[in-house]
Amino acid sequence: MAIKNPENELNSTVENTFVTWSRQKGWNPLKIISGEGSYFTDSSGKSYLDMSSQLMCCHLGYGNKNVINAIKKQAETLSYIGPSFDTDIRETVSEKLKSILPDNMVKYFYGTSGTEANEAAIKIARMYMADKKKNKIISFYNSYHGSTLGSLQLTGDFRRMLVDSYENASGFLRVAPQFCYHCPFKLKYPECNLACAENLEYTIKQEGNIAAVIFEPVTGTNGVVVPPDGFVKRLREITEENDVLLIADEVMTGFCRTGEWFAVNHWNVKPDIITTAKGITAAYAPLSLTAVDKKISDFFEDHIFAHGHTYEAHPLMLAAASAAIDEYKNYVLDHVRRISPLFEKRIKELRENHVSVGDVRSIGLFGGVEINYDRENRIPFNTAQDKIDGKPLMVSRIAKYAMEHGVYLNTWISHFIVAPPLIISEEDLNRGFDVIDEALKISDAEVK
Ligand code: PLP
Repeated sequence: MAIKNPENELNSTVENTFVTWSRQKGWNPLKIISGEGSYFTDSSGKSYLDMSSQLMCCHLGYGNKNVINAIKKQAETLSYIGPSFDTDIRETVSEKLKSILPDNMVKYFYGTSGTEANEAAIKIARMYMADKKKNKIISFYNSYHGSTLGSLQLTGDFRRMLVDSYENASGFLRVAPQFCYHCPFKLKYPECNLACAENLEYTIKQEGNIAAVIFEPVTGTNGVVVPPDGFVKRLREITEENDVLLIADEVMTGFCRTGEWFAVNHWNVKPDIITTAKGITAAYAPLSLTAVDKKISDFFEDHIFAHGHTYEAHPLMLAAASAAIDEYKNYVLDHVRRISPLFEKRIKELRENHVSVGDVRSIGLFGGVEINYDRENRIPFNTAQDKIDGKPLMVSRIAKYAMEHGVYLNTWISHFIVAPPLIISEEDLNRGFDVIDEALKISDAEVK
């Protein structure tokens, strides 16, 4: 007999199917059969408008023929060759990336996930800084950078704490984040004078052997936190002045999500290393990128980079990237810029219309809605501890209502992320927000 998971009562008919190792007991996921445009369809034939692009990665929605055909064509030409060989498709993608990345990014390493991109970045930074005896990496609390040993140490959310043994990995530090709504210093912008950035500089100076700082230009999973004006620029100044590399983790924010090719473009900042994944192929194939600037590229002209993967620079994944980048160039970026004002209007209205909405944050087609039990004191309905304890979360109830009404939302402890496919129509965007608007009556009914 299928056991219902309290957070996922939209059961499929599948029993005991191995899907995830995450609290597998009682998990009974919905079975998905197909997808088209901004919608995916379950085994009963019911369709859902995807208002979160799954894990904020299906930038082109489902069934994009140009990307599918590019993968097919590449499979017929050369489906695989080891990464020590050059290929036409690798050259093509590298040329295309050169035209869209900040112009200081000259050399590229292709992996298969955002996690891998960050692992490569850690290794690159440490090797580059080894002669100066700098090996520590600073990241921010309230961040997510991946699941493996190194990238989980970079990660500043509760997932790191679940794996005690990882505490033994040395050379990783975390500092208070740039999160105005829950300012760790209990200050207000702009009177705070960017205390978060100054705290980072203080830490860098006190530690003395910092190789790099890694940050999400817009914090993704942990709330879609858009940094205050001046923060990213100040981060660049601080890292430059202290001879520390700046790594921008654009795994979630890259490829037009925020209305620019990369989020750092909003602040005209050029990091030393950029990592990205997800949108690079719009999730049609697993590919990631670690891009570095010239001084780092020059360093590896005569230093061995002891790193690599069997599926590094895989031709099928690169074919997907090549076609996806063309779609972004041809119409998607323009579309995102055109439709973003409507997105911003609708997400702001959620706060105006609902007492349980503590904060909304957005940039481009990337938004976070934080659900508060006590808005005045900024107290969320749930905390990370509830998630660890497996308590039903308010956001799960909201998402369940949305699913019943044909809209998918990605939720996280006390907020949900609104990040539809970048091709979404105005009509669908309005429909998605209409359903969210109704769903929020559930949390409104339970505020303090
Ligand atoms: N970095 C950021 C900012 C992310 O949002 C994610 C995933 O959500 C990762 C890294 C890890 O990427 P992946 O899940 O592809 O390993």
